[in-house]
Amino acid sequence: MKLIVQKYGGTSVGSPERIENVADRVLRSRDQGHAVVVVVSAMSGETDRLLSLAAAITDTLVPRELDVLLSTGEQVTIALLSMALEKRGCPARSYTGTQVHILTDSAHNKARIQEIEDQRIHADLAAGRVVVVAGFQGVDEGGNITTLGRGGSDTTAVALAAALKADECQIYTDVDGVYTTDPRVVPDARRLERITFEEMLEMASLGSKVLQIRSVSFAGRYNVPLRVLSSFEEGEGTLITYEDENMEQALISGIAFNRDEAKLTILGVPDRPGVAHQLLGPIADANIEVDMIIQNVAPDGATTDFTFTVHRNDYPGALAILQQTANKLGAREVTGDDKIVKISLVGVGMRSHAGIASTMFEALAREGVNIRMISTSEIKISVVVDEKYLELGVRTLHDAFNLAQPGTV
Ligand code: ADP
Ligand code: ASP
Ligand code: MG
Repeated sequence: MKLIVQKYGGTSVGSPERIENVADRVLRSRDQGHAVVVVVSAMSGETDRLLSLAAAITDTLVPRELDVLLSTGEQVTIALLSMALEKRGCPARSYTGTQVHILTDSAHNKARIQEIEDQRIHADLAAGRVVVVAGFQGVDEGGNITTLGRGGSDTTAVALAAALKADECQIYTDVDGVYTTDPRVVPDARRLERITFEEMLEMASLGSKVLQIRSVSFAGRYNVPLRVLSSFEEGEGTLITYEDENMEQALISGIAFNRDEAKLTILGVPDRPGVAHQLLGPIADANIEVDMIIQNVAPDGATTDFTFTVHRNDYPGALAILQQTANKLGAREVTGDDKIVKISLVGVGMRSHAGIASTMFEALAREGVNIRMISTSEIKISVVVDEKYLELGVRTLHDAFNLAQPGTV
């Protein structure tokens, strides 16, 4: 008998029929003799609907109250799924994050899980019940409801699997695994049988929203066997694992992209020690995260140009701050662009192979895609391009590296 944590995303519980389908799936695992803990998201579109209700009331969202509101979506689905299970003669119990006691810090809207109490769940499982837990939510030390950030139900599932020492954490969604890139953009993207935690973490942090980043880092840290599967069809899905010497390793595992990017440039800043700090300090103080940074010395040798990227939501705020700094430092000009995207190649195979960047740049050049910024690390290369080139860029690179075909180094 295995202990399995299964998570069903918004589309998978998007209607009463789909919730019934989930109940059938849970029962099948149970009939195979496994103990099952289920984590569910809110019905698809529900979290967005709740957000728009809040926006209709106020421009200045109160983080604590937003969490009280957003957590209701998952409370609906745990109850409905438990009812569907009971209807099938399967004893089930639903719990909110507060009831299980998923303890988080107090960072409303982006809380981090600190501890999960497992006694209650173990007692239910021992009594033969299926336990249904609301994803995306927890409670802080003061008893306030918190939420874990968009896509956070993945993290609830992995954290529960770690706390319960489950044999496997299965993430059921509307695709049948992790693909070489988002199949909505590249129809001939290929499902990967396996991907390493390290690569999945890069993919997630570079924009592949199939798994929330924190769920992947949690799984890697606590060694939780993690699989992404379809809730609509049978299949092996994609296993996320440690790198193994015998594993056939592709050069590039996948292509991630992020549409939520914006870039800012400040031109003609006096070039002297401390200038980077003077520019980026106020941005950091405003809690704005900076991603890529490029600094160039201008031809006159006395001034420098500085470009960096931020999340698109932070663009207006960052622009206002940079303009103030420019006035203070006597810089020539501030410009910006919020119609840019980032495309990244990810693969552990890159470590031992040169020439990937040049193949990438050549392929994009052939299609007339202008690269605006570049950044590299051990297992990824990212480029910033104009938003209008996103689809073309991703498809071009998918072809250039032949990702539709399984290949190894
Ligand atoms: P859920 O509601 O089940 O959590 P999500 O919408 O969060 O589902 O994640 C699944 C979606 O992720 C897919 O429909 C797909 O469009 C998108 N996606 C992005 N990148 C990838 C990728 N590399 N492989 C598979 N799906 C991806
Ligand atoms: N319902 C939340 C969201 O839409 C959490 C999740 O689905 O994982 O982001
Ligand atoms: Mg998701």
